[in-house]
Parts: sequence; C-alpha cells; structure tokens
Amino acid sequence: MRAKTYRGSCLCGDVRFSFKGDLQDAYFCHCEQCRKNYGMHGAFVGVERDALVINRAKTLRSYKSSRSTVRSFCGTCGSPISWDREDYERIYVCMGLLEGKIAPPKITNIHTKHKGAYYEID
Ligand SMILES: [Zn+2]
Ligand SMILES: [Zn+2]
Repeated sequence: MRAKTYRGSCLCGDVRFSFKGDLQDAYFCHCEQCRKNYGMHGAFVGVERDALVINRAKTLRSYKSSRSTVRSFCGTCGSPISWDREDYERIYVCMGLLEGKIAPPKITNIHTKHKGAYYEID
C-alpha cells in the first residue's frame, strides 16, 4: 500500500495533526476505559511515532488514564485525540478525526468481552 498523507482535527479545529502512512493497524477497542472516554468503543489507527506531526497543539491536553497510558484530548471542545503507551512503537489516533475520503480499513475488534451492553458486535 502506498503511503498517503492523512489529516485530522478535533471538533473545534484547535488541534490538528497529520501523518504519512497507512491505516493497516486499525481497531475498535471495547474496553471500559475507551467506552467512558469516547462514549462508544474506541476507534484507533496506529501511527509511527516519527510520522505523526501535530500541526496545531495550543489546546492539546493529556490525561494519564493508567500507569502506562496517556490519553490526549482538546481542552476546548473535549474531542479525544489519541492514546499512547511509551512502550508501544506506535501512537494510536482516533479515526473519527480523520478528514477527507478514506478507504475503510480492515478493523480488528479488541477487548470484546468488555463491550457495552447497549450494542452488539457483528
Ligand atoms: Zn477542539
Ligand atoms: Zn480500550
């Protein structure tokens, strides 16, 4: 797959990022932390650390949700931006923030045992 440049932004536009790469490491996480953070399951794509460029970060905030995990969000509109574990090779950005036409990636569902009671997984 040829590397493409993807762009994303939060609801208010105060946080903007871009990366060159692909959407091969895409998944829905059904764990309770993600459901509470996103209001639904998390929808992420893994981005190489070196490839992720934060173009606008004035309102970028972060929250340490566990010993090893940091979740970023926009301090103005509250949009979740990413989650990060420093021992992982990639940073996981929220796919819902991506802009423009995107070929839907293959999605892997994880932590499905912890999914919400209010939806089913096909
Ligand atoms: Zn925002
Ligand atoms: Zn999760």
